[in-house]
Amino acid sequence: MRHAFRFLFLMAALSMAVGGLVVVGRAATPSTSASASSAVTVKKSAAQHADKVEKIVKSDAEWRKILTPQQYHVLREAGTEYAFTGAYWNNHAPGVYRCAGCGLELFSSDTKFESGTGWPSFWAPIAKNHVEEHGDQTLGMERVEVVCARCGGHLGHVFDDGPKPTGLRYCMNSAALTFVPQPKSAPTPSK
Ligand code: FE
Repeated sequence: MRHAFRFLFLMAALSMAVGGLVVVGRAATPSTSASASSAVTVKKSAAQHADKVEKIVKSDAEWRKILTPQQYHVLREAGTEYAFTGAYWNNHAPGVYRCAGCGLELFSSDTKFESGTGWPSFWAPIAKNHVEEHGDQTLGMERVEVVCARCGGHLGHVFDDGPKPTGLRYCMNSAALTFVPQPKSAPTPSK
């Protein structure tokens, strides 16, 4: 037992002396492949602990392959579609709006409202942890950018001039969303 303690003590001292190198070395041991895949694993595990939404990481070339040029511009380059031109600003059908990049459910028609802006607007996301919000100082404005929590795709911005009950206005780009209509046979959810 004494030897075991001495060994553990020596290992701890060695770890401290070498700093994070020992820890990093151990973490990397199970995966002998390139650092790219282990980086993805680390990100995934951090996300699982933080909000249970698993991150999706793709290369630029992969995104270009699966997105239309407009979807790519909005989602991956933080572009903005022209007002009143998108597919959903005037969509009033019941259903769910998913991320056009990764399919994560983002908004429900239940929280969609007529903002008059020409962009689909919602007063809340379908789940708090399905979107992330970051400060955005581009274009000389102080805004809050909204991105998909799973793929990091740019969705739009959130403003504090929305209707009750939240007072928020999630101003989204249609190009960042895919609308999935509620099946007609589905019974109306009871409360
Ligand atoms: Fe996404």
